[in-house]
Parts: sequence; structure tokens; C-alpha cells
Amino acid sequence: MIENSELNVEAPQALVTNVDLRPKSFESYIGQSRVTSQLKIMLGASKKKQLPMDHVMLYGPPGLGKTSLANVIALESDSNLIVTSGQALSKVGDLAAVLSNLKDFDILFIDEIHRLKMDIQEMLYTAMEDFAIDIIIGKGPSARTMRLELAKFTLVGATTKLNKISRPMRDRFGVAMQLDFYNDEELTSILKLNSQTLNMAIEKQILLKIAEYSRGTPRIANNYLKRFCEYIIHKNIQVPTDQHLLKLFELLGVNQLGLNNQDINFLRSLRDNFGGGPVGLKTISASINEDPEHVENLTEPYLIQLGFLNKSNRGRILTSKGDLIIKDVLNC
Ligand code: ADP
Repeated sequence: MIENSELNVEAPQALVTNVDLRPKSFESYIGQSRVTSQLKIMLGASKKKQLPMDHVMLYGPPGLGKTSLANVIALESDSNLIVTSGQALSKVGDLAAVLSNLKDFDILFIDEIHRLKMDIQEMLYTAMEDFAIDIIIGKGPSARTMRLELAKFTLVGATTKLNKISRPMRDRFGVAMQLDFYNDEELTSILKLNSQTLNMAIEKQILLKIAEYSRGTPRIANNYLKRFCEYIIHKNIQVPTDQHLLKLFELLGVNQLGLNNQDINFLRSLRDNFGGGPVGLKTISASINEDPEHVENLTEPYLIQLGFLNKSNRGRILTSKGDLIIKDVLNC
């Protein structure tokens, strides 16, 4: 039997799933104008000179758009993008295989480039500088070195940890550019474009609210947008409101500053178990049962940005603002 409430229900919004939300041009790559202006000049000059663009290093916390920017560079220069990572290139032979398959003007993107082992980094130095690599053929006394010429490519290296990149590696990049956290207005613009791509009509003030919860990070904003779209569809909501969104954030365990349970546990442990610090990364991560790398990459940068946490060479310290937040806003 059909219940009354199920009658006269208008067709719900149809969510377009599995779409790639990555920007496809500088125009749709919102924010980071200092970085994009510089890249446009470099790209423009390389086109005029008909030479590949100089190697670029992008650094900043995860989810801020490093991979997307490499993609935009490739699209704007009509080049192929080859994507790999420091983790995937575990042997010198892996890098040699990638490099020897490159064509002129290709963009090679190496994510988390700080993870490359020293011998692989050394091969990359010659590749970046001379567009050639030295390969050892054979073993023992009969081994000999052969120089392999490479195509003229551009390396875009990305890292969340610039301090882990060796000096010689840094020096081989023409520029190193830092990506910053986004402001709420920029995130709202990204969400507006993406809600259109997902075929969902959501009012601007709701998108702004999603932005406010998103820790200045487009990847998080996009994930919340997708969760909200699913929520709307699942609940058959015809006119989404702020209240629906707040319900969702409650379900997800996220509060208005974008702090999640992990951030709150971190701040609370810093105060209650370590008297506000200083305490080392491994110790505090163990106290909340989290992977130190995850804490360093995802939890700490945002807490530092909000002014709740300081990092000194003696360890992590809770600021007076952080202490206040735990008491007043989080009530714990
Ligand atoms: P990173 O490589 O720094 O971890 P990504 O490039 O993978 O970050 O970005 C994560 C997601 O955020 C992408 O899928 C993209 O949709 C979105 N995004 C990132 N930066 C921007 C931007 N400037 N404009 C629009 N969308 C962005």
C-alpha cells in the first residue's frame, strides 16, 4: 500500500555520480592567484620559445590542488600528463622506465616526491638537468655505463613536506610554489561550479556554510558537497536548507569550525595528558591512537592555521586560544 506521504512527491534531484571534479583550465582553477599568475607567465613563455616549461615544485597540505594544478598545466599546454608518486617509484628501474617513455613537452607529475629514495633522486637530478640518465648494464667487472638521452619534459613535483626535500633536489626546480588554504569565498565558488557539475541545485548560503566547515581545503569541501547531495536524494528533500546541512554535519561528527573528532581528541589529549605541551609528535599521536604522519599532514596544519597549536623544536604546544576553544566552544 502507498502511504499518503509518498504521494505527490516531486521527482527528486538527480545526482550525477562518478564525475571528475578536477578543474580543467586556469579559469576553473579557483584561488591561488599568486601561483597561477606565475605559471601562466612560465607557460606563455615556453609556448613562444617552443621549449618545455621549467620544472616546478608545488608544496602544501593534502587536498589543496597540487594534482589538479599539474592537470591544468598539461591541459593548458596541450601536453600529456604522466602521474606517478614517490612511493610507486621504489626502484631505480621504475624511474628509468617512466623517464624513457616520456615524449617532448610531456608533464611528469611525481606526487609525494620527498619519498623518493636517495639513489632514485640522484637519477632524477641528471634527468632534470641534462635530459639524460646513466644506466648500468651488466654486473661485476664487465658492467658498463650507458647514457640514455631523454625527451625534453617538465617535472612537476608535489610534496606535503618541503623540509624533507634535499637541497640538491630543490635546486633543480626552477620554482617552488606554496599552495595556501582557501578562504570561504573561494571554496564557495568551487562548490558552486561542482554543484552544477553534479546537477544539484543548492543555494549559495548553504554552499557558504559547507565552505565554513571545510578547513580551507577543496577536497574536504567537495566531499561534504557529495555527502550533502546524497543526503538530499536519500531523504527526498525538495528544498535543501541550512538545517538539513547541520543535521548532516551532526551525523558526520563535524563542528562549525570544521573540527572533527580527531582534532578534538588531539587538543584534549594535549591539554589533559601533557599539560598543554610541549610534546613530541609520536607521543601525542600514540595517545590518540593515530598514525603520526596522518596527524602531521591532516590534523596539525589546520589547528596551526586556526591559532590553536604551535610547533616548536621541543614539540607541540597548545595555545591559549586552543585552550579557550576546548573549554568554551567544545564544552570539554
Ligand atoms: P592535492 O594534489 O593537493 O592533494 P588535489 O589536486 O587532488 O589536491 O585536489 C583535491 C580536489 O579538490 C580535486 O579533486 C579538485 O576537485 C578540488 N580542487 C583542488 N583545488 C582546486 C581549485 N583551485 N579549484 C577547484 N577545485 C579544486
